[in-house]
Amino acid sequence: MTEFNVGDTVTTRKPHACGGNSWTVVRVGADYKIKCNKCGRVVMLDSQKFHKAVHIGK
Ligand SMILES: [Zn+2]
Repeated sequence: MTEFNVGDTVTTRKPHACGGNSWTVVRVGADYKIKCNKCGRVVMLDSQKFHKAVHIGK
């Protein structure tokens, strides 16, 4: 059901606190984890929030 895979680069609609908006998916499933490509911070989102917050691509 998910169209996202670990290792995918995704973009958040709102930038991270560091100013970056490019992330790498590090975990998929019931919860999603994405790692900020600028500052390296990892954020966990539930599936619903994840799909609202990000879209695929650079
Ligand atoms: Zn960041």
